[in-house]
This record gives sequence, structure tokens and C-alpha cells, in this order.
Amino acid sequence: MVRALDRSGAFSRRQALPGQNRAWLRRREDWLMEDELFDLLAARRGHFRLESGHHGDLWLDLELLCFHPAKVKRLAHELAERMAKFRIEMVCGPLVEGALVGLLVAAELGVEFSYSEPHSSANSSGLYPVRYRLPVPLRSKVGGKRVAIVNDVINAGSAVRGTVLDLTSCGANPVAIGALLILGDSIRSFAAANNLNVESIAAAPNVLWEPAVCPLCAANRPLDN
Ligand SMILES: [Zn+2]
Repeated sequence: MVRALDRSGAFSRRQALPGQNRAWLRRREDWLMEDELFDLLAARRGHFRLESGHHGDLWLDLELLCFHPAKVKRLAHELAERMAKFRIEMVCGPLVEGALVGLLVAAELGVEFSYSEPHSSANSSGLYPVRYRLPVPLRSKVGGKRVAIVNDVINAGSAVRGTVLDLTSCGANPVAIGALLILGDSIRSFAAANNLNVESIAAAPNVLWEPAVCPLCAANRPLDN
């Protein structure tokens, strides 16, 4: 499901002609679910430095995502249904908001749950400067298990990439990535290269730049974060 972001940063409502067939009804259900998701995401336009080190013009205040737990629970239920086919044994969610969504998805699927924590690395000026590690008591629990990494919103995918790397070093078998929203193509390239399935409630195009080629930096626009 792809939806355009309009210039103001709001997610545009998709128009569709009504029909009677089952496929249309299914798409309509998907769109209603997407609308519910986009209503929870506070989007802003500006000039932002992302955790990955990339620059972008879209920012989502994800701290608000779980403000109404019942709404996120419905979305997690839908994501869990879409991920059931991967036959996972454990969900791993990167802290902070990704782990909150991951915990709900794990409960829906009736599987185990783990989480990863961000750590700043010495390479703080390059891309992907933040490392993700599972806490010590969880590291011995993931070996050999089919794990899905679940996040709230994936953009460059810093948290997911770091979590996959650490899960692999713990002997886990990452098989899928799930998110409420996927922005841009970055994580799909990573998933294809690492033989991982990808599932989401919604996806939308988005552009990221390495700082050296950021047009907003070139225009001398100060960072908003
Ligand atoms: Zn920039």
C-alpha cells in the first residue's frame, strides 16, 4: 500500500470509487486501517538529521504513537495477522517505540518477546552510528529461533539493521521485518540482501540524503532537530 505525502506533511486521503466486489471491500478495509495509522502519526516538514545519519525533510513525533493504547493495539493485531504466515517463534523490538509495538504483536501471535537497546558508537559522524544490542539476560534466549524484528516506523532502518546484526551474532535466525509504516525503499533493499520477509500496515515514498548531498544543507537551511 503506497500513499503520497503532500507538501504540508499530512498524509493525503486516497479517493476510490465505491464498488461491490470483495477485492474492493478488502482494499477499503486496508485504507481504513491506514487512515487510523496516519491519524496517530504527527508528521512535520522541515530539515532533520535522522538516527541513521541521513538528512530528510519529514519528521514523525513517534512518542505520541502509543498515547491511545487501544488504537495501537488494533494496528498491532492487524500487523500480527499479516505476519502469522512467517511462523515466527519470537518478536524482537528495538527500544523505544518499536519495542512497544513489538510487544503487542508478540502477544497477538502468542510468541516470545525480546528487545534491543540503542548504544552510541565511536563512529558517530558516519551513517548508522547507533548500535543495537539485546540485554545480556535475553542474549542466550534467542539462539536458533525464527525471529521477526518489529518496529513502529521504518525509514532508513537504523534500528532494524542494528537489531538484525545483533540477533545474528546471538545465533538467532531473523526471518522477517514488520512495521506499522515503511517509508522509502531503504529497508526493502536491506531485507532483499539479507533474505528477510517484509510486512507492514502501510508504506509511503520518502527521500533521504547523505549529509554531503543534502539539498537543504546546500540551501543553508538550519537543522530543525
Ligand atoms: Zn541537510
